[in-house]
Amino acid sequence: MTGDGENVKLAGCVGWPEDVARRYRAEGYWTGRPLGALLRDAARRVPEQTALVDGARRFTYADVDDAADRLASGLDGLGIGPGDRVLVHLPNVAEFVTLFFALARLGAVPVLALPAHRETEILHLAELSGAVAYVVPDVHTGFDHRELARTVAARVSSVRHVLVVGDAQEHTPLSAVDGPARERPDPDPSDVAVLLLSGGTTGLPKLIPRTHDDYTYNAVASAEVTGLDAGTHYLAVLPVAHNFPLACPGLLGTVAVGGTVVLAPSADPETAFGLVAAERVTVTALVPPLALLWLEAAEWVDADLSSLEVLQVGGARLKASAAEQVGPALGCRLQQVFGMAEGLLNYTRADDPPEIVADTQGRPLAPADELRFVGPDDEDVAPGEVGELLVRGPYTIRGYYRAEEYNRSAFTPDGYYRSGDLVRRLPSGHLVVEGRIKDVINRGGEKVPVEEVENLLLTHPAVHDVALVGIPDESLGERTCACVVPHGDPPTQRELAAHLRAAGLAAFKMPDRLRVLDDLPRTTLGKINRKLLAEQVSVVRTVG
Ligand code: AMP
Repeated sequence: MTGDGENVKLAGCVGWPEDVARRYRAEGYWTGRPLGALLRDAARRVPEQTALVDGARRFTYADVDDAADRLASGLDGLGIGPGDRVLVHLPNVAEFVTLFFALARLGAVPVLALPAHRETEILHLAELSGAVAYVVPDVHTGFDHRELARTVAARVSSVRHVLVVGDAQEHTPLSAVDGPARERPDPDPSDVAVLLLSGGTTGLPKLIPRTHDDYTYNAVASAEVTGLDAGTHYLAVLPVAHNFPLACPGLLGTVAVGGTVVLAPSADPETAFGLVAAERVTVTALVPPLALLWLEAAEWVDADLSSLEVLQVGGARLKASAAEQVGPALGCRLQQVFGMAEGLLNYTRADDPPEIVADTQGRPLAPADELRFVGPDDEDVAPGEVGELLVRGPYTIRGYYRAEEYNRSAFTPDGYYRSGDLVRRLPSGHLVVEGRIKDVINRGGEKVPVEEVENLLLTHPAVHDVALVGIPDESLGERTCACVVPHGDPPTQRELAAHLRAAGLAAFKMPDRLRVLDDLPRTTLGKINRKLLAEQVSVVRTVG
């Protein structure tokens, strides 16, 4: 299925209508520049500039460019080519970067799993994407990925190669995937460059096809709005597999301007502050709970943070009181970011008044972003009222990958993406995120898909019925609470967590709390009344 547009060729994707695509090209949003060219151009302009810092390892642009070319040849030698999907499950290591660009140059498509994902998510992603290869670290945060890779290779028939960064055991070391650098034809810029994971949908993660044209725009325009230049030292604290540190402007935006990307092995303030001081970091991106931690830590960690110019915060709503502390505590400018891997990005700008920076989540990146705010009837709400945000534009997808049926409800017939976010727009054009209607709990930027967790909880013998709801939390914004109607003796929280872990669910999806109830409140239509339930369990929490 390619929708009415032939501009996206990977089967299972929906393209933009041809007239719209023509307009995005004519207006200069889509420049025909593939992602691989961002690195190539920087390597030509500033070959000796440090592109990447990973612990004690430092790489110039010439180094990374050459490594990407060689790896592309090695992957080619394994039979990996244009349109092939490669499931990438790497933390913030230099190999992520070379692999990303090697695949971009081949026209192969990375599927970017998050480091926290485990068997449930990985098997789903491998199957859904039809991945031909799975790339892992050997052991990361105590978890042996080679073991998981065995399961994936045995269970998903499309997976022909397991490539390992580090000690590969019986698998193939990524370092052995090598070949002479050579010129290759550029991939079609209107074709899919990367499959990102959705944090904003119900059920299992969906795959978001982003094209070379749209994702290059995403990174380059974001770099401009955030004020990056060749002097930028960007610290990647969040996992670079996520859209925010990857391309908003993140890693790709920094490469586009020939700056330096510093990869943080962990997000804790002591490690990160050490890197800020040592590498003279100018920009970084955090989710709100981490930002709060940094604000506190700035008081007791003795580190020189004077190089920091911009702190981006996004992924979940930042409290205005915390926003106001950023400048005084860290000595840098705050930029609020409200975005989604499906596309639309909103940023506060350097010249916005302080109250706009503290109280809003920014305004759209592109003049061509089309936003609507609608009520339950899909009619526009009055200007300034809260409504569900619908969006289409030059870097917002028209459909998820291989999700024909789901796309019918996730997009309007005229191509708007239904964000599931409740948002209002100020007269200045800035947006304020007020809540959501989608069944996802935003646990400090990590998205917990309610239905996925509930379905797994229902497979526990002591669970008769269950609803997972979000309850307010000071640092995370909200936490998860599993409301369980038991079958016989009620399960304990520990038993449920063990059950979910055994099923291979990522740790951040484990319920933070458990409430055992006789029954779940229902609406008149018989659906679980989640709002009421959340209120009930939140009240119980504060009283008891
Ligand atoms: P993801 O694709 O994982 O970045 O998740 C996107 C979703 O995160 C959005 O649809 C929002 O629900 C939420 N989100 C992202 N940034 C913000 C923000 N600054 N304030 C409130 N919610 C946000």
